Amino acid sequence: MTTNKMPELKPCPFCGSLARLAKLENGRECAYCPNEDCDVQPELKGYLDPVNAAAAWNACAAVKDDKDAQIEKLAGALEEICVYVVDWTRDLNSQIHKLQFVAEQALAQHEAEGE
Ligand SMILES: [Zn+2]
Repeated sequence: MTTNKMPELKPCPFCGSLARLAKLENGRECAYCPNEDCDVQPELKGYLDPVNAAAAWNACAAVKDDKDAQIEKLAGALEEICVYVVDWTRDLNSQIHKLQFVAEQALAQHEAEGE
């Protein structure tokens, strides 16, 4: 193991467990998810040094962070749209009630004039 300061590893993008670095039997470095219950248990192998393995792992995990951020943004937008639709529907209902009232008044007046 080298004494260079390791970059911190991002958590596993699939289960959130703390990722680890290990030296393989062939001397190459590997970054992996040690959680046996993880659905994917990703491992990135074949790096010459642990810094590169960690950088590759963190790049993969960052893609997941971006996706999470995008999903959060879209969920926020959807919420705003829902609020707008609810307001618009409420406004439309109030307009319909006003029109109904006016129509009923006109009808009543017409019937009164007809007698
Ligand atoms: Zn995992």
